[in-house]
Amino acid sequence: MVSPVRSHAVFIRIQYTIGTARMGVVDVPMRRSERCATLSRMPSTHVPRRSSAIGPLELTGRSRAHVREDGGLTMQPVALAAFRKMCRAASSAGIDLAAASGFRDFDRQVLIWNQKWRGERALLDAAGRPIDATRLRPVPRARAILVWSAPPGASRHHWGSDVDVYDRAALGPDGRFGLVPSEYEPGGVFARLTEWLDQNMAAFGFYRPYVTDRGGVRPEPWHLSHVKTARDASRRLRLATLRRAIVESPIEGRATLLKMLPQVYQRYVRSVDPPPVLPARTKRRAVD
Ligand SMILES: [Zn+2]
Repeated sequence: MVSPVRSHAVFIRIQYTIGTARMGVVDVPMRRSERCATLSRMPSTHVPRRSSAIGPLELTGRSRAHVREDGGLTMQPVALAAFRKMCRAASSAGIDLAAASGFRDFDRQVLIWNQKWRGERALLDAAGRPIDATRLRPVPRARAILVWSAPPGASRHHWGSDVDVYDRAALGPDGRFGLVPSEYEPGGVFARLTEWLDQNMAAFGFYRPYVTDRGGVRPEPWHLSHVKTARDASRRLRLATLRRAIVESPIEGRATLLKMLPQVYQRYVRSVDPPPVLPARTKRRAVD
């Protein structure tokens, strides 16, 4: 059964964390429709648009031509349809699989970057302590931002293939959660979701790219990639593509970021867990 959509707003509490320690909190209002309940009402006859047209602008979130908004969630149509199917299956197991975030555009990442660079938005060091960005020279300032934020153009959320998930059925009445690793571990509020995803997400073509800490993006058990569309985007996103996006945008500290870019590209784009070999049924679908 799919849970009925409630009329009050749902909030996501984004917390800055190191491991399981909570470092800072901000509540982000979320559209109530970013849920499986609404997605499940999409017409079953909908035919996803092919994703093969993704180019430099789409890869870096500067175009929305590759994505479609439906039920409050924006992703590539193929990935969105797969996610909707996974939602249905999860709901029969009592899990209300919901999306905290799907596609994010380049301008949004630039806004976050620039606000942190100017000291207008909370900036924390690797230990979670607040830093005054304006006291840092350009290179350490850029490094400090990269601890918690993807560089504009380098987020997998630009691709429309990736989605952050949680189980709305497991939430308390205030609808708040932290999006922190401990919630997804055994004993955590989303432990059942983790277990269900471990056993089932591959059948719907999803996997987790941020399980292992490889020195770039920290482990994010809530972050799922739709294998086919993410693999395609990953192959296409070259260093030159990312460089061009940054050269052409009003990013604070642009010259510094461009100098660091080869290392940033390696650590934050390339250093992820590889996609698994999908079940045969999914593989056949993936090539049509
Ligand atoms: Zn994510």
